[in-house]
Amino acid sequence: MFKKYLTCPECNKNNVACIFWGYPTDTDLYLQAIKDKEIVDGGCLVSDNDPKWECTDCHHKWGTREEDEDK
Ligand SMILES: [Zn+2]
Repeated sequence: MFKKYLTCPECNKNNVACIFWGYPTDTDLYLQAIKDKEIVDGGCLVSDNDPKWECTDCHHKWGTREEDEDK
C-alpha cells in the first residue's frame, strides 16, 4: 500500500514515510501504518503546498502532495 523506496535528501537514510493528509477511511490500518512508520499524520487541514514525504529520522519534509481529488 505504501511503498518505501525513497531516500531522505538530508540524511540519506531510507526511513521515509508518506505524509497522510486529511481523514483516514480505515482508522485501524491508519494507526498501524503510523506505528510501522509507513506514513505520518499530516493533519486534517490541507493547503495548496503540502509536502508529500517525511523522513522519520531527521523529520525533513519534501515533495509535493498529489491531488487525489478531481477539481
Ligand atoms: Zn532524513
